[in-house]
Amino acid sequence: MIGHRGEGFKDLYRAIYPGLQRLFGTKQPVFLSTSSAWGVMEASIRNLVDREVLCCMCGAFSDNWFDVAKRCGKTAEPLQVEWGKHIDHKTVDRQLATGKFDTVTLVHNETSTGVMNPLPEICCILAKYPDVALIVDTVSSFSGVKIDMDSLGIDVMLTGAQKALALPPGFSLFSVSEKAFARAEKIPNRGFYFDFLEFKKQQAQWMTPSTPSIAHIHGLQSKLNEIFEEGLEARFARHARTNALVHDWVRRTGFEFFAEEGFRSKTLTCVKNNREIDVLEFARKLRNKHHLVIDPGYGKIRGKTFRLSNMGDETEETVAHLLRCLDDCSKR
Ligand SMILES: *Cc1c(COP(=O)(O)O)cnc(C)c1O
Repeated sequence: MIGHRGEGFKDLYRAIYPGLQRLFGTKQPVFLSTSSAWGVMEASIRNLVDREVLCCMCGAFSDNWFDVAKRCGKTAEPLQVEWGKHIDHKTVDRQLATGKFDTVTLVHNETSTGVMNPLPEICCILAKYPDVALIVDTVSSFSGVKIDMDSLGIDVMLTGAQKALALPPGFSLFSVSEKAFARAEKIPNRGFYFDFLEFKKQQAQWMTPSTPSIAHIHGLQSKLNEIFEEGLEARFARHARTNALVHDWVRRTGFEFFAEEGFRSKTLTCVKNNREIDVLEFARKLRNKHHLVIDPGYGKIRGKTFRLSNMGDETEETVAHLLRCLDDCSKR
């Protein structure tokens, strides 16, 4: 192990930095947070929300963010759509036109429902409201599809370790715009552990505010090497191909998609259990017989859906293998 206040750590942070900025599509600082993504999701609320936050809600993670905002003592309003539907940019526009809001939360890829929200369209709307800050959770889409923070005008972009990056859980990454730093300066009670300005000050010296999980950062360095060895465009193309394999399987086997057409995730598929199989038994069989794990649906759609991931390190070979094993387990 290396010391986190020594040259070894600074060299490590410095070494991974250009790759991180490239992945985020930003010239802004990229921060290392020793917390899971929720830490940064809560931090974004505490650092940015002054008047009122509009929480775009379309599934378990985005719905929960609204609750977190209220628990932080902030005034929050839900923009709720039915699970499986996407957040429509025109609705966001209508809400922002009221002038009530200074912050918006958006989950890009709603992992619970398999919906990928139309980020460019929503960002175009936000561009009309320069006083509103946009916080985007890219936990399950980061590095799977292209998301350029600066050109989209995102103010806080965050991701976790264990989803799209396929690293061990318990770590997250985020970047903050100049506008968001300026906002944070005026917000009291930001605390210490998640204070964006503290992160900024420390990053300028290649350090973190508190002791970081160095093991995660070594893992991240190795992951970045893999990512750039493959090439970003090739990585995106691989996700598109493996996603198409899963979609073909869904159609071929007579299942349906839980997410509406046109807004389906490129990194995971939420399959609607229209065939009314015993999803828990299906997942159990797959695990016992083939040592493969799928999720039998999240929260209120457990058993009514199941989810197939093609994010992270999955290849055409691993996904094709999974689909063959699913076929084997669904034989009547
Ligand atoms: C998993 C997930 C989170 C939360 O991640 P934690 O590691 O539990 O903090 C947040 N947002 C999305 C979209 C997720 O998929």
